[in-house]
Amino acid sequence: MSHPHPELGTPPELPAGGLRVIPLGGLGEVGRNMTVFEYDGRLLIVDCGVLFPDESHPGVDLILPDFAPIRDRLADVEALVLTHGHEDHIGATPYLLRERSDIPLVGSELTLALLGGKLREHRLKETVTHKVKEGERISFGPFDLEFVAVNHSIPDALAVAIRTGAGLVLHTGDFKMDQLPLDGRITDLRAFARLGEEGVDLFLTDSTNAEVPGFTTAEKSITPVLDQVFRESAQRIIVACFASHVHRVQQILDSAVKHDRKVAYVGRSMVRNMAVARDLGYLTVPPGVMVDAKELATLPPERQVLISTGSQGEPMSALARIANRSHNFVHLEAGDTVVLASSLIPGNENAVYRVINGLSRWGARVVHKGNALVHVSGHASAGELIYCYNIVRPRNVLPVHGETRHMLANGALATLTGVENVVYAEDGVVVDLVDGVASVTGKVSVGYVFVDGQSIGDVTEAELKDRLILGEEGFISVIVVVDSVAGKVSAGPEIHARGHAWDDSMFEAIKQPIIDAVNELLSEGNDDTYQLQQTVRRIIGRWVSNTHKRRPMIIPVVVEA
Ligand SMILES: [Zn+2]
Ligand SMILES: [Zn+2]
Repeated sequence: MSHPHPELGTPPELPAGGLRVIPLGGLGEVGRNMTVFEYDGRLLIVDCGVLFPDESHPGVDLILPDFAPIRDRLADVEALVLTHGHEDHIGATPYLLRERSDIPLVGSELTLALLGGKLREHRLKETVTHKVKEGERISFGPFDLEFVAVNHSIPDALAVAIRTGAGLVLHTGDFKMDQLPLDGRITDLRAFARLGEEGVDLFLTDSTNAEVPGFTTAEKSITPVLDQVFRESAQRIIVACFASHVHRVQQILDSAVKHDRKVAYVGRSMVRNMAVARDLGYLTVPPGVMVDAKELATLPPERQVLISTGSQGEPMSALARIANRSHNFVHLEAGDTVVLASSLIPGNENAVYRVINGLSRWGARVVHKGNALVHVSGHASAGELIYCYNIVRPRNVLPVHGETRHMLANGALATLTGVENVVYAEDGVVVDLVDGVASVTGKVSVGYVFVDGQSIGDVTEAELKDRLILGEEGFISVIVVVDSVAGKVSAGPEIHARGHAWDDSMFEAIKQPIIDAVNELLSEGNDDTYQLQQTVRRIIGRWVSNTHKRRPMIIPVVVEA
């Protein structure tokens, strides 16, 4: 259970003419965005993304939204709308399509192209796609959709207006209001105003930066900073950024040309995504600037630029391997410059600082958002959100996309502008829009679905807790052999420990109490193995806790002689 709400029960049947909103992910975390809309028995899904694991998820590769609440109703799904190509919005789509492969996929050109690579990797071929553009309207069952251009840290992002008999819903997706973006495609506030005039009954808005006062700095303000870094660098420059941040890569390419350097990409997703962006015209590659990474290595260091993945410290990424000096052809030298032109996603701090330390140890100069303006956020700050509320004048607001504190801050901004009804929900909390009023009506049970290697959903939250206990507290095994005919312990206990500086001889003190307790149960005629094991676990558990202040995992094994 990701966000338990014990006060809420199963929602009542949706009244005729009502719209139900069921968030399956992204409300209560930054990641795995997925929202289900239900009207007249039919379903529309907006986004289907992944959440990246952090140190509290050892061994987990990806975290998916829980599809369980709609698993029996996949035939009712009219379409899946993908607002933009970020992993936290499209990354779980292949896993949903494994359950029903012909769900119509609706998105912009770049979004569908980035998703396409992912679907091919998962060998999903027979998919149905509908390419849409801002200004277009298209209907799926009872859902009449209209798309609105929004500016974000990836090109071609869309907000979606959803018209049903229950009213007009506007979902911003991820957005900000950069007024001078690189591609000139701004968030279409005129469309927001027009929809506001028509009457927006429910407005779902991006909460990520609601706590940040003012306005998000323009992407273009990075240009002079990059320029300065290039001017000051006498050797190779390595820039790490998100593999989907086309405009950031564009700025690096432009700086490279200006300073007479050549550029190569390192990292599989960077190579793949930038080829897609170039082919579709979202990235303008100046002639002659790109070379392949091996050819780049033959040039003098002052002519080299590498654009790399790994800006979040991902241990297997190109940048992490460069920092460890384990990359097969990029060998960092003292005096090289490394730029992390990226955000620092909460949870990744330790990994990122580990990489920065690794790079610094070899004598590289590391430029990152903590010491230079080499990154701006892709999300609207408080000032921008206030503008939106004043322009749209919605009847009801549901903050989405963020941790609890972000959603509360976003809702408070809506209230400031005079929005009368702000509804707060987390994953699984059901919001119904009935007669123009949105309210929480119940919850559905949702959990975290962990992808670990080839397994999807086999690792449970309980097993993850075990992994954490094993990692933090270690492990003790206790083997006791009993003779139930004689009614006493015949061998052992044999105690072994791992994961702490524990010498097995330390356990001598607790052996006799274990023997006494087991003998006592046996003499009472109690030879149930499970009960004997529980007794052993309790005795050693209490002893370790009292004498060593630890709570390791204890595996008691009682065997019959
Ligand atoms: Zn995004
Ligand atoms: Zn997002």
